[in-house]
Parts: sequence; C-alpha cells; structure tokens
Amino acid sequence: MKGLMQPGGLMISSLLTHAARHHATGEVVSRTHETTTHRHTWADVERRARQLVRVLHHLGVGESDRVGTLAWNGYRHLEVYYAAPGMGAICHTINPRLHPDDIAYIVNHAGDTVLFADVSFAPLITMIAPRIAETVKAVVMLTDAAGMPEVTLAPGMALYAYDSLMDAADDDFAWPVFDENTASALCYTSGTTGRPKGVLYSHRSTVLHAYAIALPDVLDLRATSRILPVVPMFHVNAWGIPYAAALTGAALVLPGRHLDGASMAQLLNAERVTFTCGVPTVWLGLLQHLRSSGERLHTVTRIMTGGSAAPPLLIEAFRDEYGVVVEHGWGMTELSPVGTYNAPKPAQAGLAGADAVRHMLKQGRILPGLDMKIVDGADKALPWDGVAFGDLKVRGPWVTSAYFGDEPGSALDADGWFATGDVATIDPDGFMEITDRSKDVIKSGGEWISSITLENIAVSHPDVAEAAVIAARHPKWDERPLLLVVPRAGHTVDPASVLQAYEGKIAKWWLPDEVLVVPELPHTATGKLLKTALRSRYRDHYMGAG
Ligand code: AMP
Repeated sequence: MKGLMQPGGLMISSLLTHAARHHATGEVVSRTHETTTHRHTWADVERRARQLVRVLHHLGVGESDRVGTLAWNGYRHLEVYYAAPGMGAICHTINPRLHPDDIAYIVNHAGDTVLFADVSFAPLITMIAPRIAETVKAVVMLTDAAGMPEVTLAPGMALYAYDSLMDAADDDFAWPVFDENTASALCYTSGTTGRPKGVLYSHRSTVLHAYAIALPDVLDLRATSRILPVVPMFHVNAWGIPYAAALTGAALVLPGRHLDGASMAQLLNAERVTFTCGVPTVWLGLLQHLRSSGERLHTVTRIMTGGSAAPPLLIEAFRDEYGVVVEHGWGMTELSPVGTYNAPKPAQAGLAGADAVRHMLKQGRILPGLDMKIVDGADKALPWDGVAFGDLKVRGPWVTSAYFGDEPGSALDADGWFATGDVATIDPDGFMEITDRSKDVIKSGGEWISSITLENIAVSHPDVAEAAVIAARHPKWDERPLLLVVPRAGHTVDPASVLQAYEGKIAKWWLPDEVLVVPELPHTATGKLLKTALRSRYRDHYMGAG
C-alpha cells in the first residue's frame, strides 16, 4: 500500500523559492573581480535566476544541455547554479586550476554548449577556444559591457557580456516541476591519475545532501548564520553550501578569487561571518596572517576543514590562540561531496586538551542517509575497533553509481557499494579515520603502514612546514616509508631530530627509513599532495639498500 502524502519532487528550484519567500532580505554578498563588494538578497538571486533562464533560452540551451562555468565564488556564478538546473539543464562547473589540456578535454567530454567565465579566465578561453569550438557555441563573460576583457574565440563561437544579456531578459519564467532524478549538475574529479571523470548529480541527490549537511551535527546552518565557503564553487558544488544556505536562509558570503590570509581575515570580519569552510592550506594561510599581523577574528566561532587531513596544529592554534573551533569533515566529488563529519557524541563531548585534538583528527561519523563499512583485501567486513584498517566503502542516495558516459551502476560492486579509494579505521562509536589513499598505503613485509599518520607527526615538528610520506620499493620489505619534508621559512631541518619526533608515537617498524629535505612538494589542482609525481621520482630510492 502506498502512503497518502503528496508526491512533489525534490527540486533544486524549491530551495531557492523557499529562500526568496521566507528569507527575502537574507544577504548574498560577493567580493567581485573588481574587488568591490556586491550585495543582494535571496529574493534578488531567485528573480535574477529566472531572468537567467530566459538568457539560456536565448542562447539555445535546452533541457539536459550542459552549461559550463569557469568561475570563482560570486553572485553571477550562483545565478548559473540555480538557473541551469531550474530549467532542466545541467550546470557543469570546471576547475580552472587544471591543465588547459584537461580543461579542453572536460569541456568536450561534457559537451558544454555554452561557457560562463570570469574575466580572469579570458586568456585561458582564448588558448583553448580552437579545441572546444565543436561543442561550445557561446562564451559569456561574467561582467558588464565596460568590463569586457580581450578574448579571441574560434569561428562559430559568439561572445557576450553577462550583464548585457541579463539587462535584456524578462523575469517571467515560472520554475517547472519535473522528475527529481533529472540530472542537475556535473563535476569532474580532479584525479591524481588518468583522465578526469564526470560525476552527474540529480535534483534529488542535491536536495537530500543539502538537508543532511544543514543538520546541527554537520554544518549547523540556520537563518542567523553567515557562512563563507572558501571552498570553490568549481570544486564539488562548494561542498553543497550554495544549496544548504538557501535551504536555511543563511547569509552567504562569496569571496571571489583572493583567498590569501589577509583578504580572508578582512572579509570574515567585515561581513560578520560566523562560520567558514575550506581546505587546510587556506586555514594555515589565515593562521600565519593572524599571527604576524596581530589581527583577531571578531565573529567567526567555527571553521570547517576538509579535502585533506586536518593538521593537529590547525586545531590547536585556532582553539588556543583565537577561541575558534576547527571542525573536521570528509567527502569526495562522488559523494556530492560530504560523507562524514566529526561532531561529538556524549562520550566525546567532555574531551579537552590534547585528547580533544586527537579526536578531532578523525574524519567523523557518517551522515544520516549514507552507510559505510571497511573491508579487507577479500572484501570481508572489518571490525569497528578503531585499530583494523581497510578499504572504505559507502552507499546512499547522494553517492554516484556511475561516471558520466558510463553504464548506470558501473562504479559499484555487486552489493551496490562504492569503493572510495580511501583506507580507514572506524572506532566503536562510529568515528571514521582515514589512514591513507589505498594507492598511498605502504605495504611493508605484508603489513600496512599509514602514510598520513607519519605525515601528521612530521608536520608537528617545529621546523617542518609540509611533509609527504611515500612507499618506496625495498629489496627486502617490498616497500618502506620515505619521508620528504619542506622546511618552514627561515628554518633548517635536521633529519635526525624529525625522526626523534616519532619516538613513542608509532610502532618502531613504521619509522621512515630516511628523511629527505626538499624545497617544495608537488600539488594537484585542488591542493592535494601529488604523490604520483613523488612516487615516480623516488620509487627506487631504497633499491640499493640491503
Ligand atoms: P575530491 O573528490 O577531489 O574532493 O577528493 C576526495 C578525496 O580527498 C577523498 O577520497 C580523500 O582521499 C581526500 N579527503 C577529503 N577530505 C579529507 C579529510 N578530511 N581527510 C583526509 N583526506 C580527505
């Protein structure tokens, strides 16, 4: 027997119409490329998104067409976020930090018909235009007529200024209701190996994810929150914040392209931001700026960090020096992206000092609606004892089932689980902790060593700015850990003293065989350590050893 409740689909446009109706004066503030501050409200976003649908129609965009964006976090980008899926098209956010060859590949693979781009990407568009001309028919620069940069396109491609198109468009569009499983957005994984792969979200997955991340034990968003996503809107939907902010009526502060410590501190204080989300590198930059300038954060009470492991120093320094709680989450493009969040249960609520920091290094509990497990090499479930570590698998309504262009279900195992590629422990209270990427774990004499654990200890050394541990081939043990460290500015690193830092913290056989001091480490376009490059360079470093 079916229930007798109203069917009504989970539409992305319903998040925006809710915000416009019930939080009409809720603020959306953007730092623009001109470094001026642009202010409008949720009511403005909703009205302008309807206008933008008329622009998309004018450009020939129809249902299921892909609308590409190459843009920082700003109000025009937000309008594309809502207009494209709202009319049944797909908002395809592209990471501009990727190599131009990858960007051209992604645009063609996605089949983008229109590209919306910030003015700072004019040289990039000019460079790749001949390679994307088959599919892209129009490029819209996110500026007014006066701000139009030099752009050279290929024959057959039209160039427009966003504001001119908007000024000429009506706002008489009415948001349609259609199947909630319709595709809404597309985002390619940055991929440290191989070609990027597209993850295709739906209205249903996006709305459910927005509800889940707004919960008190996740982002804890409310109408009085003022949230600043530093995480880019071109990388996994800015962790879903543009949707969850509308759902809750929270004020949204969009930082544009300047994400250095000084710019962040200024914007956080000027816009009375209460909560902000981003990757550890951004927070380390902010911390450095606060320490050297003596500035304080006046309104921020919580900082969420994710995307890579949270360094203990970050949690400690913000808590002890600035009274700000650093919260740790984990996710991936394939999960929309948030999968786990570290909020205490009663047993952890009283933790203090070093115990609290140790606990916050865990990536946290699975969001309600998702399920997780860890398995060994034979796919047998491992115990949740906080010790056993194995491949982390997840499933649920905002986890991908296949990559764009592939057969539905092809990214899952026979039981419908998605293998994350991360290696983790889960403790008896359900807190998951990543110990590695499965391809980064060090397999020494048949036992596994966590590279992340070793890196965390190395970066707690006062002379070390950054550390990477890789599996180097070894004639006797198969693989052994090799530690590479970058010294902090003005410091020199003594390898023996770094090795001493491990004493009492790890099993003796986990100790890196060697420490190499290097001027810098390679990173991916999303700021993660590029271990493939390190492995290809140092893979045989121990092969002379006995
Ligand atoms: P992406 O799809 O580019 O967001 O990358 C997802 C991957 O980033 C995950 O599979 C993890 O390996 C890594 N990652 C994300 N969040 C964390 C975290 N809090 N700690 C450690 N690794 C993380």
